[in-house]
Amino acid sequence: MSTMEFRDLKAQYRQLKDKIDQAVLQVMSDCNFISGHQVTELEDRLAAYVGRKHCIACGNGTDALTMVLKAWGIGPGDAVFVPDFTFFATAEVVAFEGAVPVCVDVDPRTFNMDPASLEQAIRAVKAEGTLVPKVVIPVDLFGLPADYRQILPIARSYNLLVLEDAAQGFGGTLDGKQACSFGDASTTSFFPAKPLGCYGDGGAIFTDDDEIAAYIRSFQVHGKGSHKYENVRIGWNSRLDTMQAAILLVKLDAFQEYELSAIQDVASRYDESLPNDMEKPLIPEGFSSSWAQYTVQVEHRDEVQQYLKTKGIPTMVYYPKPLHEQSAFDGMHNYVACPNTEYLCRRVLSLPMHPYMSNDEFRQVNDIFQIIL
Ligand SMILES: *Cc1c(COP(=O)(O)O)cnc(C)c1O
Repeated sequence: MSTMEFRDLKAQYRQLKDKIDQAVLQVMSDCNFISGHQVTELEDRLAAYVGRKHCIACGNGTDALTMVLKAWGIGPGDAVFVPDFTFFATAEVVAFEGAVPVCVDVDPRTFNMDPASLEQAIRAVKAEGTLVPKVVIPVDLFGLPADYRQILPIARSYNLLVLEDAAQGFGGTLDGKQACSFGDASTTSFFPAKPLGCYGDGGAIFTDDDEIAAYIRSFQVHGKGSHKYENVRIGWNSRLDTMQAAILLVKLDAFQEYELSAIQDVASRYDESLPNDMEKPLIPEGFSSSWAQYTVQVEHRDEVQQYLKTKGIPTMVYYPKPLHEQSAFDGMHNYVACPNTEYLCRRVLSLPMHPYMSNDEFRQVNDIFQIIL
């Protein structure tokens, strides 16, 4: 019995090897390593797939978030609302700009930002009076779009911009709309283990706003003006390599053709087979997930994880700590309590999950849960 992978990138490579090798070799023989035609082709395909006017590929998902905040002029004195239960980068980029991340609690069944807690946090910030509420960053955690039905109207009524952090959300949908299409701008990540991953770091920004898109296209190449050696602002260097774009074009085909439905299959089988009294991820009516993670909740989580490890089953804890407890944010003011996040951090366990999971692997995981729960 071979050891099980948590997310089996090797199985994916075996399946796509011929096409990926060919795509990479083409880049090497063209020697267009930066801004090759594959980058533009990928941007066009991604924009069409998610239904946005602009897609701008960049260095990684963290740069993508940061460049949107820069384009919006977010800085000191501004409050940016983030879920307390997310990867660190969602709040890190806010603090990096000198603005204040304000933690919002999440729904314990979907893991996503709780709209009621968001509204409570906005009111608390306004009542306190030292910060100006500017932006909300809902996260499409584990592949499930956040509750934009409720979040967008709240944001509108308080005049907040909405930045969708879809680093894990690419491929998910809500009411027939694709992740990366919600709010004023969206970002994703092509980190290898994300739903659509490349072979290194990569990311993208999506927006329908021409001005914001133009600003970011300039900012990401040293603040370029009408050509590369005319510089109109102080900028950065954050681009997606041609090599990564070429790999992503192959992977996007597979993603659209069968990976998304294959992973949906694995999720359905987990849903149906895992013990009834086990807390499974909730996908509400009208939503679909791209299953960046399949995350259950269990008592005695650490012991369960340890036991699974002895049986050769890899699991992960996303996430063990609420943002508001991270020492990097020592002294952070909590505007609202986040009890659901604290509860989840003690109980969540993400199971092996990927489009190439075999029946055998699935059965191994399931059998163990039948015994221990
Ligand atoms: C991975 C991730 C990011 C950062 O993406 P990178 O490409 O690793 O910089 C941001 N937000 C969330 C929710 C993530 O999961």
